[in-house]
Amino acid sequence: MTRVFNFSAGPAALPETVLQTAASEMLDWHGSGMSVMEMSHRGKEFISIAEEAEALLRELLAVPANYKVLFMQGGAIGENAIVPMNMLRGKSSADYIDTGEWSKKSIKEAQKYCQVNVAASGKAGGYTSIPARSEWKLNADAAYVHICSNETIGGVEYHFTPDVGSVPLVADMSSNILSRPVDVSKYGLIYGGAQKNVGPSGLTLVIVREDLIGQALPITPSAFDYKTVADNDSMYNTPPTYAMYIAGLVFKWIKAQGGLSAMAAHNQAKAAVLYDYLATTSFYSCPVAADCRSLMNVPFRLKDEALDDAFLKGAKERGMVQLKGHRSVGGMRASIYNAMPIAGVQALVAWMKEFEARHA
Ligand SMILES: *Cc1c(COP(=O)(O)O)cnc(C)c1O
Repeated sequence: MTRVFNFSAGPAALPETVLQTAASEMLDWHGSGMSVMEMSHRGKEFISIAEEAEALLRELLAVPANYKVLFMQGGAIGENAIVPMNMLRGKSSADYIDTGEWSKKSIKEAQKYCQVNVAASGKAGGYTSIPARSEWKLNADAAYVHICSNETIGGVEYHFTPDVGSVPLVADMSSNILSRPVDVSKYGLIYGGAQKNVGPSGLTLVIVREDLIGQALPITPSAFDYKTVADNDSMYNTPPTYAMYIAGLVFKWIKAQGGLSAMAAHNQAKAAVLYDYLATTSFYSCPVAADCRSLMNVPFRLKDEALDDAFLKGAKERGMVQLKGHRSVGGMRASIYNAMPIAGVQALVAWMKEFEARHA
């Protein structure tokens, strides 16, 4: 068996030990005589798996007691609609910060439910930086302020938590959740699809302050009403049980690595290998402003686009896959989430150097 270094933006690489545990428990979970996939979500075995996953997530992120942790479905794109349906709370508008492809999608969807005020946008700069907080034109009467904490396609990441006063801050953290410590109390709501840093696709994490739920629009589907989901411990409908089990194993793995501060140090060291090299060469370039470069998704371009295919082919021959940039921006993108070992990034930089030496 040969495992590759998988630089996919998502679904993405998982820690190898998690996959090994899942494989060893596939047919018989802890003497139950069945796979987790075959368990009733209301049985005591699965309830214990769900409770442990929630407890570990709360511990890792130090989630305050007045926040609900919800395991949902529909992905972050589903949440783009579910958030306004739940969070408008009698108000008619919401503020959104436009930092790239994923914010644009959130804005477009929210416009079906409310008036969207784009309070700041990185568009004029080609989405290569986060607009400074001092330039945001927030509306004091907005229901919430929405940000995307890491733009997975553009590679632009917030390295600060914006202060938005008493209006709840809502963040799509799909691609950097659990990559570093976060002060959850500064947010009204955090959401994210699982398939970048948490586990298999099909599971969506929502962490929401209790006092903000219970006022969903009447049109909200029951399965997407945060209050209904919370009141039923994420089991109003059948949750994505196997994905929750894998997420629980990933949470355990993160804890064993030393938790989120260890994860952050590891991620900084990994990203530095790549960004430090990019700073020394003009053969490759990274468009993103230095102070908002993502530690999770590193976009870069070859000076000569005509060499892209040869670069990707050589990478594949060396066991490195999924380096092609998103179709909307082209170039290359290395996604280096928690589960990517530093050896993977070192191998990539070694190949980049070799390729440069051959073609420069
Ligand atoms: C991947 C991603 C999404 C889309 O998630 P789905 O699970 O496909 O709905 C949304 N936002 C961000 C920031 C992402 O990285």
